[in-house]
Amino acid sequence: MTRHYLMYIDGQWIDTDDRYEIRSPASEELVATVAKGATSHVDAAVAAATHAFEEGKWRHTPVAERAAVINEVAQRFGARTEELAALQSAENGATVRITGALHVGLSVAQLQYVAAIAPSYPWETSGPPIEPVAAEGIVVREPLGVVAAIVPWNIPLLTAVWKIGPALVAGNSLILKPDEHAPLLLLELAREFEAAGLPPGVLNVITGDGDPVGAYLSGHAGVAKVAFTGSTAVGKSILRQSGDSIRRVTLELGGKGANVILDDADIDMAVDGALFACMANNGQACEAGTRLLIPESRRDEIVDKLIARAATLRVGDPLDPATHIGPIISAAQRDRILEYFQIAAQEGATIAVGGRAPQGPEFAKGYWIEPTILVDVTNDMRIAREEVFGPVLVVLTYDGLDEAVAIANDTNYGLSAGVWGSNEARALEVARRLQAGMVWINNWHVIHPAYPFGGVKQSGLGREGGPHGIDEYVEEKFIALDRSGGIENKAFAIVIDPAG
Ligand code: NAD
Repeated sequence: MTRHYLMYIDGQWIDTDDRYEIRSPASEELVATVAKGATSHVDAAVAAATHAFEEGKWRHTPVAERAAVINEVAQRFGARTEELAALQSAENGATVRITGALHVGLSVAQLQYVAAIAPSYPWETSGPPIEPVAAEGIVVREPLGVVAAIVPWNIPLLTAVWKIGPALVAGNSLILKPDEHAPLLLLELAREFEAAGLPPGVLNVITGDGDPVGAYLSGHAGVAKVAFTGSTAVGKSILRQSGDSIRRVTLELGGKGANVILDDADIDMAVDGALFACMANNGQACEAGTRLLIPESRRDEIVDKLIARAATLRVGDPLDPATHIGPIISAAQRDRILEYFQIAAQEGATIAVGGRAPQGPEFAKGYWIEPTILVDVTNDMRIAREEVFGPVLVVLTYDGLDEAVAIANDTNYGLSAGVWGSNEARALEVARRLQAGMVWINNWHVIHPAYPFGGVKQSGLGREGGPHGIDEYVEEKFIALDRSGGIENKAFAIVIDPAG
């Protein structure tokens, strides 16, 4: 029987008459059904999270114990890696090649990392003595209150734990809203937090549509901060919404990563790396390297190799370990990608390989796009400027390093970028000139809990992960404790005469 998942609010599992059907994007088979929340559930979750925060049970739990709960959840989740990786593949079509190591493995590592750094985080520090008032200065880093975390379907678990780990270790309450296509691992995660003894109301998971449920949550007066991963369009609307209340916001948005192959690069490695950069997670990754910049002098050699290597990529069942590229998340998204091919052709680009849905009986169900490479692309074309979100690589040529850097930086986005070259100093110089939150040299998708993830320009605001990941979930309070006695030395004596 198909499993039915409930929402988690105030430590209770809540059902609704209305339900989502989660269907595999590869087979269209029913994977699970899920309760479908409404704005009234947001009100209930905000009330529960506020009560939990004010009551203070979790917030006043010693940090080492909060970290221990997070560690326990990481351990429980890690022990279920194989089962959860398969569930993730069935739900959003990411291949089991990466759902184990990346989706689950990196998420577990991220939770363990935040638990490990929490005891030494500077929750309370004192600074130099404050003269001439002889005050002691203390800085306390306090939780914000109720955090709303809204995440997408493509890498739901990692994008969620980047928020859940630091928010909870800092003592906040949290309301998580998964994407309607991919809530299952996040509901499984809530079950593990419940089992690990997290008090009711501290973590709530609401399954509901982006509009109205997500929009109602991100605009709720009871929410102190919104942590969002998703499209740039929705990120902008959240930022606008937050203007009235000066709510805290962090945003992880879209990208159009520039991947620069230098003329001294190991071309075989760079070609495989370019396909990995663009096509991993079925090309549905915000940090994908979707614009490949190659030296005009080596164009034909690189394009020929790209086409040959792309032909070796196996498209198919995401649960088969031999598969490199699984399905696209939905029919609507597949159609959007096909439309981009038409637009690109109209603007003068040439489809060198792919450019359609794969043929054959195994593709009769589900939503598919062949790995696609477009050449004769210029950086003003829509295919080079807009996020396509599929296994679609555009190739641009450059003449000289300055032009490579200029093309790479000529974009509204700035999440990821990459450089391939054998001269380390030269590759590093290019990396320093690229406008992006993350630049990888001779690799791609290098994501590690101890390093920040996030973008510049319209790719986002703030960073997740790294030693400063917790900073985004605390407010600094400065306390000045004046021990000087008397009022002679105090600044207020300037306007108020000392008595007598
Ligand atoms: P989306 O913005 O439509 O949806 C993301 C989440 O926001 C979902 O939970 C959705 O229900 C919710 N949502 C939708 N409308 C909303 C609204 N008006 N108010 C509040 N919440 C709303 O994103 P998508 O297109 O489904 O996901 C893909 C996008 O996510 C891509 O642009 C990709 O680049 C981006 N992404 C970014 C990162 C990153 O870390 N930078 C990671 C993964 C995905």
